[in-house]
Amino acid sequence: MLCIGIGLDNIDGVVAIADSFAEVYAAVGIHPSEFGGSEYHPADARLSGNLPAVMERLAALAAQPKVVAIGETGLDFYHEGHDDEAVKHAQRESFDAHLQLAKSLSLPVVVHTRQAREETIAAIRAADSCAAGVLHCFTEDWDMANQALDLGYYISISGIVTFRNADNVREVARRVPPDRLLLETDAPWLAPVPHRGKPNEPAFVADVYHFVAELRGEPLERLAETVWANFHRLCPKAVS
Ligand SMILES: [Zn+2]
Repeated sequence: MLCIGIGLDNIDGVVAIADSFAEVYAAVGIHPSEFGGSEYHPADARLSGNLPAVMERLAALAAQPKVVAIGETGLDFYHEGHDDEAVKHAQRESFDAHLQLAKSLSLPVVVHTRQAREETIAAIRAADSCAAGVLHCFTEDWDMANQALDLGYYISISGIVTFRNADNVREVARRVPPDRLLLETDAPWLAPVPHRGKPNEPAFVADVYHFVAELRGEPLERLAETVWANFHRLCPKAVS
């Protein structure tokens, strides 16, 4: 299991969870939403002008044995205020800094992308990283997935794949090559069918596995082995 850091207030917590359970690893990063732009998620003022210090803190955490990836980071231009050029600029700066940090540490990157297809691909390409990454909770189209695959990235499918109106996600989940597929919950949001309306939790990833196995027409056990192998190839530091 990979427990994901999203901001200054949770990165120590995810590392502590990973340290407490042998089968849990951590990723550390600052989510693009931490730069504000949506009315229900104000910017974290501590980030403003402090990117180098924040990256130093992430680097120190990444030196710990259970921290196996950098993220989540990325670009999210979905929320109304994210049209704000200053917010977009702050997200881009942070994303670039995360990509460089991951490159310097040879760790993979967990990338969040929403309504920022061209910009996300361009930033990954510009980083020219030997370390690969994953587009997590993928909700865009096959064309973007394909571009990310060409850059060596993995595609992670969440419980959205079980939602009625998610034909685009189902198409991607069917077409991703077996050696680039990952599955996740993105808990506590987006509980898969049949748990809609409840807080999502890691155990519900089993529902995502069942659904995707049927969608791809392959035995559940084989899919589980495939995703296991993919995770360990992407995150070679994950050995316990
Ligand atoms: Zn995300």
